[in-house]
Amino acid sequence: MFGGRYTQVTAIRRKNGEIETHELYKKENPTLSIFKKIPLIRGIVSLIESSASGAKHLQHATEVYDLDLEEDNDRAQDTSSTNKTSSSWSFGVVLSVAVIGVLSFIIGKVIFTALPAFLSSILFDRFTKNPLIQSVIEGGIKTLLLLGYLWAISQTPLIKRLFQYHGAEHKVISTYELGQELTIKNVQKQSTLHYRCGSSFIILTVIVGVIVYSFFQYDTIWDRIWTRLLLLPIVIGLSYEVLRFTNAVRDIPVLRYLGYPGLWLQKLTTKEPTDDQVEVAIAAFNRMRELDAEVASNKYSKHSAPTHLSSSTS
Ligand SMILES: [Zn+2]
Repeated sequence: MFGGRYTQVTAIRRKNGEIETHELYKKENPTLSIFKKIPLIRGIVSLIESSASGAKHLQHATEVYDLDLEEDNDRAQDTSSTNKTSSSWSFGVVLSVAVIGVLSFIIGKVIFTALPAFLSSILFDRFTKNPLIQSVIEGGIKTLLLLGYLWAISQTPLIKRLFQYHGAEHKVISTYELGQELTIKNVQKQSTLHYRCGSSFIILTVIVGVIVYSFFQYDTIWDRIWTRLLLLPIVIGLSYEVLRFTNAVRDIPVLRYLGYPGLWLQKLTTKEPTDDQVEVAIAAFNRMRELDAEVASNKYSKHSAPTHLSSSTS
């Protein structure tokens, strides 16, 4: 999935080998635009926005798999039904990604906040009462849990493929930024790591959390967990500001290192893509550029919009 200035495009390869793109025009909501200018608040707004649009694209992917399933069923009438099982498996798999996506956002945030606070309380609080050290231990436990979780899910074939596409997206953007032609050969030469990546955000929330939490004293384990959960929006908002800052200073030699923890995390959240996957990513990127250019030159009007886009533009 690629997000441009005005549009977002996802490409999917259908079972027949064709690449199909799915497009969303970004809605300008006046109220949201105001919130998006306020530091701290804008981080939370953009996080909710991007998880909402991610869910929309996943929903579309599910529908496409549904179509493929129907076509398979039609074909199964006159041939054997071996395809049917593989396709309904794909449908179930895509649906579970959508569910995992939404659940991991809400439950994941709560679990990854409450569990480290709980574990460090029962394991380490007897050794130190210093809030900063306690907070650092908590951050360490959180990092271990996070890395373990990412490693474990990356062992499943489905998430592995998702991470390969993530790597493909980074490679395409890097190739484009180098000003090279977007061919499979050029794209595959790039690294799967990219400095401006959303997953850097995860590791930043851990680091910012360590600092913010160290200012708060607590008496019981439950006090500790509640303060963490209540402070979560502040931690997310602050992390977003730090991410903007590290992106702004990435060309300054020493400050560049501020973004490195995010790059290390990408060693887990990206994998080497196949040529086939790179082709899909290039298709999505080209379509996004095309649509963005169309919108920018005002060629696009609501009357000429393809009907299936009208719901997301009006
Ligand atoms: Zn990324």
